[in-house]
Amino acid sequence: MAKKVVLVTGGSRGIGAETALLAAEKGWNLVITYNSKKTEADLIIKKAQSFGIRALAVKLDVSNEQEVDELFKYIDKEFGRLDALINNAGIIKPISSFVDMPVARIRDVFNVNVVGSFVCAQEAVKRMALSRGGFGGAIVNVSSTAARIGGPNEFIDYAATKGAIDTLTLGLSKEVAVDGIRVNGVRPGMITTEMHAAAGDENRPDKFKSAIPMRRAGEAFEVASAIVWLISEEASYVNGALLDVAGGR
Ligand code: NDP
Repeated sequence: MAKKVVLVTGGSRGIGAETALLAAEKGWNLVITYNSKKTEADLIIKKAQSFGIRALAVKLDVSNEQEVDELFKYIDKEFGRLDALINNAGIIKPISSFVDMPVARIRDVFNVNVVGSFVCAQEAVKRMALSRGGFGGAIVNVSSTAARIGGPNEFIDYAATKGAIDTLTLGLSKEVAVDGIRVNGVRPGMITTEMHAAAGDENRPDKFKSAIPMRRAGEAFEVASAIVWLISEEASYVNGALLDVAGGR
């Protein structure tokens, strides 16, 4: 049987890169996207290929629907199928009080985190849906515990995008279950990646240790395990779940 194909957006670093490598290890063919860090993406592809699977990296600004359209057409051409989508690409802006957030910033975070995930999910559903000739599939939306904490004094904009992502998971999981597609969300807590530098505080995971019941930040591979489980057959009856991977926070 042909190997299944998974698309991981933002697979060049952090949680996306670990997810891509674990999926490759489990035998999935792989497409990852990067926004600017081609060298990092190429390195992940090389490591993934060492598991004997086919892996490709594609440049994508997920907020640009033309680029999303071209990405999915490229997958059609190269693989002829898509079995799983990990909506992982996401951005955060420097820590700010709510009133000081410029509108351009708010729009930017929503365009990447929300609109980008919506458009990728639309393209994936078009290909996976049984009623459209697909084989079914699985979508995992990478949210955040910020969706329920709210990000006060730091990034309410980012937190709100993750609230929207949770609602996407809940609604879409009910809409496309009949089409053989499972849709779930993973909500990481404080995970050690480069994203915290983008928020202006690379030591944030270490500083917040005491606020986490397990008294440590998580590692990207610990989130990857949950994501790859959710797209696997082992999770065949899991649909519409929002799985916290947050050390109990
Ligand atoms: P990183 O900052 O380490 O990596 C972000 C990834 O997204 C990179 O691959 C980057 O590509 C890509 N990316 C950035 N901007 C765009 C864009 N406009 N279009 C497409 N891709 C883009 O992030 P993390 O691994 O930490 O985060 C991954 C996901 O997990 C995000 O959705 C984030 O919100 C979520 N999350 C992270 C937490 C954490 O503590 N780290 C906690 C909760 C949720 P490139 O390398 O080319 O720049």
